[in-house]
Amino acid sequence: MERLLSVVVSVYNEEEVLERFYRETSRVLEGIGWDYEIIFVNDGSADASPAILKRLARQDGRVKVVSFSRNFGHEAAMIAGIDHSSGDGIVCMDADLQHPPECIPDMIRCFEEGFQVISMVRTKNESAGWFKNLASKAFYKLINVLSDVRFEDGASDFFGISRKVASVLKENYRERIRFLRGYVQNIGFKRTSIEYEAGARAGGHSKYSIRKLFRLSVNTIVCFSDLPLKLGIYAGLLAGLMGAVVLVYTLFTRQGAPGGYATIVVLLCFMFAVLFLLVGIIGEYIAVLFTELKDRPIYIVEETENLDR
Ligand code: UDP
Ligand code: MG
Repeated sequence: MERLLSVVVSVYNEEEVLERFYRETSRVLEGIGWDYEIIFVNDGSADASPAILKRLARQDGRVKVVSFSRNFGHEAAMIAGIDHSSGDGIVCMDADLQHPPECIPDMIRCFEEGFQVISMVRTKNESAGWFKNLASKAFYKLINVLSDVRFEDGASDFFGISRKVASVLKENYRERIRFLRGYVQNIGFKRTSIEYEAGARAGGHSKYSIRKLFRLSVNTIVCFSDLPLKLGIYAGLLAGLMGAVVLVYTLFTRQGAPGGYATIVVLLCFMFAVLFLLVGIIGEYIAVLFTELKDRPIYIVEETENLDR
């Protein structure tokens, strides 16, 4: 029996590129020697994307659609696609053709060699602009310092996983706030990576605002590192040490009536700044705890096409 490949695609207002994505990807998939299904996850699109997906699903039974009741975000969309997939191998990619479908045959070869995790490493990102590229570099530096978990710089949401890895993700990684890429890179199993160049978007504009990216970065740090929580200990030690030095100094020099108004104000501001920052950091962790505790669904499916689940 032929093996099955599931291609998972998250879609949020991608009317400009969907047709082209479907055409180019299908053309590549015809030649891989595996059966295939393309699972589009419609992440609450407000444009013509749902209608286009419906039409594609009617024309081609290998096109499957999972539609969310609202926008739940890219991460939730990928998880939903993986949940609904039934392939022996699963490839996650974006709808905007920044993840070239031409790479899929190479990924298939890796699956056939027995690799369970194939991470696609971006060597270049044309469309992101210098700010996003710089911010992304800085983020990876920071998270690698903060966390024991290793994050590959340039690893993207373009990756391949085996059925086995998918079931581990499905069973055990159900956090509300998550960073799929981080799990995929650190789940173990026999893994390999393939390099690719991210071209420009095929059409439309990026759906990730700077704000969304910032939120994602903060969440990732909170999820993968508890070091920020311990900053308080270091700040406390440092403040205590400074206090002791000043105490000894004052005792030995026997200073009389203090001048030093500026010193006091500066110290006070500095101390409060550190204190508030630490409270804010603790707040971030509590917010994550709170979200997890509420145990709301990661995504809500409104309807599906060509899927009988
Ligand atoms: N996306 C999504 N939900 C969102 C934002 C984005 O499903 O809330 C999808 C989007 O349709 C695309 C992929 O995630 O297929 C990557 O988004 P985009 O290309 O805008 O990000 P960039 O490549 O600019 O980082
Ligand atoms: Mg993109």
